[in-house]
Amino acid sequence: MDHPVAFHARLKKNRPLGPEPDLLEPPTSRPRRFLWGARLRYYLPVFTPRRVFNALAITGSYYLSRLLRRHLVWGRPLSYFVEPTNLCNLRCTECPVGLKQLRRPQGLMDASLYQNVLDQIAPTALHVLLYFQGESFIHPQIIPFIRSAVERHLLVEISTNGTRLANAEFAEQLVRTRLWRLIVSVDGASEETYQIYRQKGHFHRVLRGIRHVVEVKRRLGQAFPQVVLQFLVMRHNEHEIPAIKALGRQLGVDRVVLKSPQIYHFSDAEAILPTNPRFRRYEKVNGTYRLKGSFSGYCRKLWIGSVITQDGQVLPCCFDKDATYPLGNLNQSSLAAVWRSGKTVSFRNRVIRHREKIPMCRNCSEGLRIFF
Ligand code: SF4
Repeated sequence: MDHPVAFHARLKKNRPLGPEPDLLEPPTSRPRRFLWGARLRYYLPVFTPRRVFNALAITGSYYLSRLLRRHLVWGRPLSYFVEPTNLCNLRCTECPVGLKQLRRPQGLMDASLYQNVLDQIAPTALHVLLYFQGESFIHPQIIPFIRSAVERHLLVEISTNGTRLANAEFAEQLVRTRLWRLIVSVDGASEETYQIYRQKGHFHRVLRGIRHVVEVKRRLGQAFPQVVLQFLVMRHNEHEIPAIKALGRQLGVDRVVLKSPQIYHFSDAEAILPTNPRFRRYEKVNGTYRLKGSFSGYCRKLWIGSVITQDGQVLPCCFDKDATYPLGNLNQSSLAAVWRSGKTVSFRNRVIRHREKIPMCRNCSEGLRIFF
């Protein structure tokens, strides 16, 4: 296997990549048929009759509500963001946590609150995104947290900056939890480019971490977690799109996903937004940036999803990074009570009637394509 520096020297010269015998070998001991069987055994217990019924009810009520233009909600969310922590070890230059702009309290989710959340969501939910703001792997109990959600047959997804995966023992424990999907943010195909956005991050350490995960998965013959390498396309790194795809192949990840960036401070938007319009979610009209597309007045996220912060606040969606629109707190009420509360109903009605008047909703990609 190449030393990472040598690998990047080859990428820069655009030379074809040679095979990585220890990483690119197919899982010879586990035939493809076995992996399909393993996938089926993994997914079947997720779709319990109660969850399927809930999924039909909540999506049905969303479409009926759109059709009748009336507030109708049957059932509970299918998917929850649960925030183990909103602390982070990096200082990314467009992130409210990295910029230290978050005004809400920062900390670690209490284990009893987490179990309480799982108890309430597991009967009806299908999917848990164990992250929101911050770096989830900072939480000292993150492995037991993942394990308890997987044991309840929830599809558990984590997005990480990947720093902690460089610890081989941690990476092995993580793969053994059999979480569903692991998204690792790598916004550069070289150390220099990576460091521009992921300040305090270490490119080669993250690559080493991804290699650990892929290697353990192959050794154990596991189909999960699916490993996704996510690349935020910005002005300074868009020239590395072909290189990041090659790097993803070389590492043996399941997918490389390109994402368009959200802008918070439009005064420096041009320095951040890529030149390729395909990867820009904004267009400039009369000198002002606005999202592409038009506001439909409806928001699917308010029916099928919800967010729970590290201190138990329930938020309408993942765009409410600083808990500006709190709907309730699970330390004081149940999730069912918050979901039906006057505050939640009134927020949904505000979005239905005047989505364009809510600042958070004006900078929201709901209904737009942001992944490529
Ligand atoms: S920001 Fe507004 S429109 Fe966007 S997902 Fe949240 S509630 Fe829906």
